[in-house]
Amino acid sequence: MAKAAGSKTVQCYHCRQQFDVGARAMTVACAKCGQRVIVHDLEVKNAQGVTKLRTCGKIIVERKGKIIAQLVEAHQGIEVHGTVDAKRVCVRGGVLMGAKATWRGDLRTERVHIETGAKIQGGRFEIATNASAADLGLEDLPGVEGEPLPPLNGTAEKQSIGQRAAAARASRAAAKAAAASAKAEAKANAAPGTKADAARSASTATASKKTASKKKVAKKKVAKTTKKKAKKKVVRKKKTGGS
Ligand SMILES: [Zn+2]
Repeated sequence: MAKAAGSKTVQCYHCRQQFDVGARAMTVACAKCGQRVIVHDLEVKNAQGVTKLRTCGKIIVERKGKIIAQLVEAHQGIEVHGTVDAKRVCVRGGVLMGAKATWRGDLRTERVHIETGAKIQGGRFEIATNASAADLGLEDLPGVEGEPLPPLNGTAEKQSIGQRAAAARASRAAAKAAAASAKAEAKANAAPGTKADAARSASTATASKKTASKKKVAKKKVAKTTKKKAKKKVVRKKKTGGS
């Protein structure tokens, strides 16, 4: 892309229009929507509480700098040597967290470098290594506060996150099934003899077995045990009830 010397292309963070500005421009009016757009680098040297902190350039949070914001958006990276406490941070160009950095907030970016000593106190990170900005939805960053982040496109990163989530769900289901079987057992022990109780505990066991069978190996074991236990109880009750 041949560009006029001394100019750069920026993207309006209000309407996402791209246009060229002079290389040394600080703020400009968007060529499309007319709103004021910050295009220069922002240096944060002290505590700043703002709703939105956005620039088409870079944000540098100095050692004593602190950003407290709902939305932080930078199109040419963020360097953090102080504190970032934000609800959401969208960064094109990568994030550097220095050894003295403190971070809290959801982050979506292409890459992160975290130096030893940096503190991350919370936040969900979505990072796609080697992905284009489009894969992260960074070509079309959300411009409205509170607007949910667009879903990621099909990247390898996303897949592995999905698999991890499935595994987590599976183990939760297994735990649930185990808890249900324990409950059924307790119920049966507490009120022995009545057929209704036996039926109820059996159905609880079946329900928990169903939940478990949706997933794989680990919960299958639990489901089996649940089934066995339930059967035993029913048999035991039939015996006691009959004699
Ligand atoms: Zn605009």
